[in-house]
Amino acid sequence: MFNVTTGLAIWCSEAMTLALVAFIAWRHNVRDKTYLYWGLGFLLSGIGFAMVALRGHIPSILSVEIGNTIALAGQSAWIAGYLALDKRRVEWWVLLPPVIWLAGVFLPWVNDDYPNRVALYNLASAAGATALTMAVSSPGLNREAARAKLAIIFIVQSCLCFATALAIGIISPDDVEASNLAGAAAMGTAFLLTLACALTFRLIMERSEQKLRILSLTDTLTGVLNRRGLFAQFTRIQTKAFDDRRQVAVLLFDLDNFKRINDRFGHQGGDAVLTVFARMARQFTPSGVFGRMGGEEFAAFASVADQTEAEALAETIRTEFCRVPVSTGDAIVPATVSVGVALASPLEANMDKLVSAADRALYAAKGAGRNCTVIFGEAEAAAPPPVEPDHTTGELVPTLDDQIHALRRVGSLGRG
Ligand code: GH3
Ligand code: MG
Ligand code: MG
Repeated sequence: MFNVTTGLAIWCSEAMTLALVAFIAWRHNVRDKTYLYWGLGFLLSGIGFAMVALRGHIPSILSVEIGNTIALAGQSAWIAGYLALDKRRVEWWVLLPPVIWLAGVFLPWVNDDYPNRVALYNLASAAGATALTMAVSSPGLNREAARAKLAIIFIVQSCLCFATALAIGIISPDDVEASNLAGAAAMGTAFLLTLACALTFRLIMERSEQKLRILSLTDTLTGVLNRRGLFAQFTRIQTKAFDDRRQVAVLLFDLDNFKRINDRFGHQGGDAVLTVFARMARQFTPSGVFGRMGGEEFAAFASVADQTEAEALAETIRTEFCRVPVSTGDAIVPATVSVGVALASPLEANMDKLVSAADRALYAAKGAGRNCTVIFGEAEAAAPPPVEPDHTTGELVPTLDDQIHALRRVGSLGRG
């Protein structure tokens, strides 16, 4: 016949198995304490309920007071595990479940009364489930799809335990009725815990997928977006520019005479220059996106009011890079950057054409002596397509005006 003791025995062996699995997972990366806490949670829960199941066979203090304290400490360890999962500090409130139990169990009207002990245990467990909800949801429920579902499971668990405690308070059951209520609540909790385990695995999988996705969009040397990550953001900037009635600007940066920097200061010196430039430029494009196109070429996409704002952004980054020397530890590396800029209205903006236009402007900047900014003619980029079929359709070639503008800019901007 199935009874509460059999149920507890089943849970104990299940908890021990899960503890073993969690400890094995923890050994893969001992610095991350998440699995250690979860393993401890299952171990304590298993030991605690084993002691509770032995009521009548072992001294009452071991079974009632200590057994339940250990089982509730298991809940504390699970809460700590969810905090560790999000790299958050484990704080005092994780200990609420065993503390609530210990604060009440020695009161004579609780200690001597089985239904009151069941009510107290469920109150402590409800507090633990609420703490689990807080731990899971505080970094933001939208971060992973499984997070919100997990939070709902813990809220249901909290409500179930609280309702059990409340029911005991209202109906004042005898020992048998209280035992039935405790059994029903424990079965419900065990079911919810199984769901929570499955959702936690989902959450971990979603997190590692997200990590991999971020890695695949990030440049490993500089930490800024790589080409793929950058291009994936173009539509967002285009929509932002459309909503704000602004223009889309593409800024292409190419470090000047970089080969010489590598030759003089070594590949590591060159890498240091790339990293310093990328981090500095990213800081100056908070409302836009910045990334590495490849080699010593970078790009920024931004929504700007007009050409003057785009030019100001390019010039700020260029002059700042000239101003702040790059140190490689034992040498100061002088480095400059050339910038090509192209703009278009959001409705007409085409990423390939804008990048190609900015590239032409960059080429003009190199031709004009480097360390300067050249704007690809705004009128050219925003011009309506020609009515007559034209062989140059789709090609963005600097007009005579652009080239004159480039030469003027070089004259007026100087070398920073
Ligand atoms: P320009 O002013 O015309 O742009 O001249 P440049 O020397 O910068 O241009 P070039 O394209 O001739 O050389 C680019 C160099 O950048 C060649 C390549 O070895 C170096 N480079 C590309 N990627 C990296 C990298 O990740 N680290 C380092 N240190 N160098 C790199
Ligand atoms: Mg280059
Ligand atoms: Mg270069």
